[in-house]
Amino acid sequence: MRKFLMIIVFVALCLSFSADISWTKEKWKEYRSTHFIVYYQKSPKDFAETVAESAEQSYRDIVRNLGFIRYKGWTYDDRVKIYIYDDAEHFQKSAYIYKWSHGVASPKDRIIRTYPSAHGFFDSTLPHEVTHILFREFIGFDKAIPLWFEEGVAMNQEKAKRWGSDAMVKQAQANGTFIPINELSTMRLSSRTPIETVHLFYTEGASIVYFMNTKFGERRFERFCRELRDGTSFERALKKVYVRIKSYEDLNKEWLKYLKDQ
Ligand SMILES: [Zn+2]
Repeated sequence: MRKFLMIIVFVALCLSFSADISWTKEKWKEYRSTHFIVYYQKSPKDFAETVAESAEQSYRDIVRNLGFIRYKGWTYDDRVKIYIYDDAEHFQKSAYIYKWSHGVASPKDRIIRTYPSAHGFFDSTLPHEVTHILFREFIGFDKAIPLWFEEGVAMNQEKAKRWGSDAMVKQAQANGTFIPINELSTMRLSSRTPIETVHLFYTEGASIVYFMNTKFGERRFERFCRELRDGTSFERALKKVYVRIKSYEDLNKEWLKYLKDQ
């Protein structure tokens, strides 16, 4: 449990505001691959190359895992920019983000910002942030989707994935801190949100998305994502694709029933 808690602490990542990349006078060096441009300063060049290779692998895995096979993707001029800061201090100061964050994606600007010593950089941070960008590219930037869902999708693409998340949700139920889905859907995270609440928010998101995928299958999950892309509201898409799940309350009920059997 402790180990899992540590993982959650460090992969608590967030979606971002619009970009401001004028924070430093130091020149950024760049390394280009098919879908990404890695910007770096003090990191060695081979690290930037490894980041690009790893991001390309994440791109392939995510497109396959989410079933976005016919998704046309992006290349060349549309490449996603990955800014590698020298360390946590540089990152947090420059990117104006919450202290609990180790990476940040700004899908509309196609920018990922992180730093190399972020815990689980290649296995968690990078796939998580690449997922945010791919997911929004597919769904569309104008779609209103609950944050827990978006984070849950990203958490499920991390190599460590949702290991332990079901157990943590059960523990939250036992100690009375559990947040039902309708509450989760209106929650906003900020620098004042207690860290335990941030963990639980991400953990529940990971557990719900994993439940939707395993209980009803990946093909149905893809259909659900396509409905969201086509402009169907979240709850209406639930009803259309999962039929007997017609609302957040129904989803909450089915999810908890599933957890009970685990
Ligand atoms: Zn995230």
